[in-house]
Amino acid sequence: MTYEAAEQRYSGMTYRRAGASGVRLPVVSLGLWHNFGDGQPFEVQRAVLRRAFDRGVTHFDLANNYGPPYGSAEANFGVLFAQDFRPYRDELFIASKAGYDMWPGPYGDGGSRKYLLASLDQSLKRMGLDYVDVFYSHRYDPDTPLEETIGALATAVRQGKALYAAISNYPDAQHRRAVEIGRELGVPILMNQSPYSILDRRVETTVMDAVGETGTSLIAFSPLAQGLLTDRYLSGEIPSGSRMSVGHFLKESALTEDRLNILRGLNAVAAGRGQTLAQLALSWVLRDPRVVSVIIGASSVKQLDQNLVALEAGPISDDDLKRIDELSRS
Ligand code: NDP
Repeated sequence: MTYEAAEQRYSGMTYRRAGASGVRLPVVSLGLWHNFGDGQPFEVQRAVLRRAFDRGVTHFDLANNYGPPYGSAEANFGVLFAQDFRPYRDELFIASKAGYDMWPGPYGDGGSRKYLLASLDQSLKRMGLDYVDVFYSHRYDPDTPLEETIGALATAVRQGKALYAAISNYPDAQHRRAVEIGRELGVPILMNQSPYSILDRRVETTVMDAVGETGTSLIAFSPLAQGLLTDRYLSGEIPSGSRMSVGHFLKESALTEDRLNILRGLNAVAAGRGQTLAQLALSWVLRDPRVVSVIIGASSVKQLDQNLVALEAGPISDDDLKRIDELSRS
């Protein structure tokens, strides 16, 4: 059936400005790393994307190698974009990236101009887009001069193939230098996409200061720690079909007795606030205004809907923040 987006799609979402730019992103964005490859039911993919947009999630985060197989998430998104979302192109903020392993040989990995610009052309073709809204250097590559990598992003922007440039997984010093180079080239770096969750707080002692001091934003990925910070594993069992049951990226070894105790402690804090653990985990990352958005994954409409309830929650009290600190550092 022809898709018509919900009329009220902007009524329940909050938008934050990315860096010092004029563009605002929904505080909850949808990532297509998992759940959009060739092994996933196409109608579930469609339903999740439609529901997200119907609820004001205007930002879809992709990369060249999301799948599996590599490229399939962009290709599947391309089909759904053509069928459902083309009339809404100007209401969508679509990201792609290059930096990790994509194709064989010396030009399919890293931060070279050769790789980044070829990959962006391939991504645009797979998605059937004229441009992406933001194009990322997916990782800092110590073997490529940063001037070359950021220069390639600037070229993409000048060519009109990307509207904004951004970086991902960049450490503190490289973040600062990338921002400087972007300024020199007249193409500002919008944000750094990095892992951030109650269970992974490394950015707090590394890139967060660089983000704040350079007038950029952090866009947080895996805010639910790939599902650990939900009720999926609280019983200690591994449900079939869950990311841990597949075991490539989230391993059973992550579910130790100590970890379970932390998760159950966090779940008690969430329950005290009338939230689920997933909702608390999202509210917690979003408490920092330097975070422009949390990029979540969802394997069903139900998960997406449950997570978006986090937007309705009030601020986290000092006592609860203290308890979360104790648990996350235990
Ligand atoms: P999350 O931490 O949000 O984990 C998402 C997974 O958690 C879901 O696929 C689902 O897994 C489970 N889940 C989500 N909501 C619920 C719920 N309410 N109840 C139970 N289980 C739930 O994020 P991801 O790790 O998926 O990463 C999100 C996005 O971030 C990616 O798609 C990608 O766009 C980006 N990313 C970027 C990286 C980079 O290097 N720049 C690296 C990693 C991610 P299940 O399959 O078990 O249902």
